[in-house]
Amino acid sequence: MTVTEVPRPDTLGSEVKIERLSVTYGSFTAVRDVSLTVPAGTTTALVGESGSGKSTLALAASRLLPPGARISAGSVVVDDTDLATLTGKPLRQARGRVAAYLAQDASAALNPVIRVGRQIGEVHRLREDASRRQADTLALEGLADVGISDPERVARLYPHQISGGMRQRVMIATALAFRPQLLIADEPTTALDVTVQAEILALVSRLQKEYGLTVVWITHDMSVVAELADRVAVLYGGRLVEHTDVLSAFESPRHPYTRALLECFQGSRDAAPKERFTTISGNPPVGGLPTGCPFHPRCRDASSECQTALPEPQLVATGHHAACHRLEDLR
Ligand code: SF4
Repeated sequence: MTVTEVPRPDTLGSEVKIERLSVTYGSFTAVRDVSLTVPAGTTTALVGESGSGKSTLALAASRLLPPGARISAGSVVVDDTDLATLTGKPLRQARGRVAAYLAQDASAALNPVIRVGRQIGEVHRLREDASRRQADTLALEGLADVGISDPERVARLYPHQISGGMRQRVMIATALAFRPQLLIADEPTTALDVTVQAEILALVSRLQKEYGLTVVWITHDMSVVAELADRVAVLYGGRLVEHTDVLSAFESPRHPYTRALLECFQGSRDAAPKERFTTISGNPPVGGLPTGCPFHPRCRDASSECQTALPEPQLVATGHHAACHRLEDLR
């Protein structure tokens, strides 16, 4: 197949259905029994502290888990393709076309000794068998698509010669080179300053509309959630503890952990400077989970039942699930 024969329809977004997904690192289960549907063309924010399992879930859905980690159960279905079961050539073809992954650290992801235009072009050379000339042309188109106004000049630069925001634009151009149906973004704006972050969020929103992308955006920053997300999925201890639309997540969260995350966010935003560090007491579980509800050692609302019985997700309103024993008491 030549590069000009590769289909590039304007809109490709598909529903993403993650069902009962579990991921293990040896004997440690980092993601447990997570089920999550992301409607086509929408953005779901995956939220939680470090160690909550959100990056592991993202890497599993992208089929980019590191050596030693594996999907031990469940499925990740995008447009009738179960990414969790693909191997070999079908898996290589699905990467970048069905699902693409946008890493947090563009500096680490880009090769420091290859010019950025060549790096984007290489993706086309490897995956589409494009000629050098075709690859260079597609790289320039990719740079223009992500809002770089002088792509010919930027294509000739090395990663260290461009800004952090520009590097992230290059990463987006690479990730979207094959117009994937699903984009999984792992905190790609964390290292950027606030104004550049806003530009990148606006860029992804524009490209999402243009390409019909379905997006899973991992973040611990609730202001990014408010800006970008249609739905919010909250993870704790590798489990999905609450899943709802963005308005309900902010205005009527039901799970104590979601409420605590929001208190931290609102505290850091609204409080006087000296009182700005609102935190959740204790630390996320490392290496193993306590019995019962994984959040119980840190939960202000824990009862004796919480120490022994694992709460199952319950439907609390249309499209709103939460996993807590005390949902009725804590309304
Ligand atoms: Fe807190 Fe109990 Fe609900 Fe867990 S189940 S979040 S410990 S109230």
